Amino acid sequence: MSEGAPSQRLPRWLSPRKLAYSNAAITGWIDKSDLQRLSDAVDSIGDVQISLEFSQNDDGKLVVSGAIEALLAYQCQRCLQIMPARSESVRLSVGIVRDEEEAKQLPRSLEPWIVLEDEADVYQLIEDELLLTMPVVAYHDFECIDASLLSSVAAADTDHKADKGPFSVLSELKSRED
Ligand SMILES: [Zn+2]
Repeated sequence: MSEGAPSQRLPRWLSPRKLAYSNAAITGWIDKSDLQRLSDAVDSIGDVQISLEFSQNDDGKLVVSGAIEALLAYQCQRCLQIMPARSESVRLSVGIVRDEEEAKQLPRSLEPWIVLEDEADVYQLIEDELLLTMPVVAYHDFECIDASLLSSVAAADTDHKADKGPFSVLSELKSRED
């Protein structure tokens, strides 16, 4: 683990408004077993490190900003091999709101985080953010399957169709001769 890495587990349930009023900062890690939706979407999850800063901006909006770093491994959708895990970094910038109406009043730079009760599930927020930054389809960034193999399969298919042509003409001729 890198120097200064947070060593404590991030609590799942936080009181975001209280934290914002007191300008709190929280760092920690999340265990991959607590990120089930993300686990289903990737091949494997390594460390997930989070740092969050709660504050009130100049307009009086309650804001959470921070960073999420997660080591994720994907399966290549071309060759189906597992690619080396890579670190995904996500910047978080959300405004704490009670409903859609309040969400509409947020500046564009803030995504709404709807928090109905005092406490909120911060893992869900983090998991949503990570899912949003994932590639829709993951591929190796090089030609992991020999392109000539792919084209020879295509060529064989064309040959096969071409074979049918003369043969069927021949059989037609034969049937006429009979
Ligand atoms: Zn591949």
